[in-house]
Amino acid sequence: MTETSPSDSGRIAFLGLGHMGEPMAVNLIKAGFDVVGFDVVPAAVEAARGAGVPCVDTAVEAVTGADIVLTMFPSGEILLDAYRGVGGPGLLESAPANTMFLDCSTIDVAQAREAAEIALAAGHRSADAPVSGGVVGAEAGTLTFMIGAEEAELPHIMPLLEVMGRKLVHCGGHGAGQAAKVCNNMLLGISMIGAAEAFVLGEKLGLSHQALFDVISTASGQCWSVTTNCPVPGPVPTSPANRDYTPGFAGALMAKDLGLALNALEHAGVAAQLGPLAAQIYRKFADEGGAGRDFSGIITDIRERSEG
Ligand code: NAD
Repeated sequence: MTETSPSDSGRIAFLGLGHMGEPMAVNLIKAGFDVVGFDVVPAAVEAARGAGVPCVDTAVEAVTGADIVLTMFPSGEILLDAYRGVGGPGLLESAPANTMFLDCSTIDVAQAREAAEIALAAGHRSADAPVSGGVVGAEAGTLTFMIGAEEAELPHIMPLLEVMGRKLVHCGGHGAGQAAKVCNNMLLGISMIGAAEAFVLGEKLGLSHQALFDVISTASGQCWSVTTNCPVPGPVPTSPANRDYTPGFAGALMAKDLGLALNALEHAGVAAQLGPLAAQIYRKFADEGGAGRDFSGIITDIRERSEG
């Protein structure tokens, strides 16, 4: 743990008080940090106030006098627009010089690098720290943070991240956090499709779910998609399959993250085949009713297509 007190971090402007942002802000407040919140949606502001987050009425008000601007937004476009300002002052021009712009949203690697570039050019500091662990992890303060920042910036951001997360990995310079996240989630999407296909094949070959689980979970096919988020009900009682695929990790978010993976693959010139295919499969899943279901619900599609 970092040997500092919350007051050393100064004031934190927390922007984006949605499913993830609100509980993350609440944990910072509980730990004694000075947080002021803002969201463009009044209902999100009201909910955050109800949960104990002091909020202001504009983004400019939030970042004026902030030492750290923490963003938890839906997309990179929204982040870059907010930094630059659209039809009004942007966050970069409204914050005091040398403010730390810490973005925890999941966005494109190239956009994260652009965000860092314009923050630095405006006389600020920057770090990307996307998360994994979902709403449950945000509430429990057990998120994993993948950090892209210069080494010298770590002491400034670690005290906050330690409160909101359990595992913090410094992956490299600007954009490296997003790079690690996109690689992990591409593998996750691919492995879940593989796990689901294996269980449907097992069903067709007359295997019980439990027998196949007992083999895979201790054999070379072992992976998180089987041992923790098993796509069939039974073997792992806490997996979303046991509650009709209530997320968990929603299909819409997997489709979003695989879209980012697709961009990154193209940008980096990787001759991948499974990543783009997984992106296509989850886009269709999300568009055809799976957006709000756990991504392991993809097994239902495979089973339906295997009938007859
Ligand atoms: P969300 O849509 O619930 O919250 C985003 C919030 O940002 C919304 O309340 C929205 O009104 C607000 N917002 C948008 N533009 C704004 C602006 N200019 N100023 C202030 N507020 C603004 O999304 P979420 O589920 O909280 O996810 C946030 C980020 O975390 C996303 O990038 C997502 O991909 C990532 N993520 C989510 C999960 C998850 O399980 N929900 C898991 C890991 C990562």
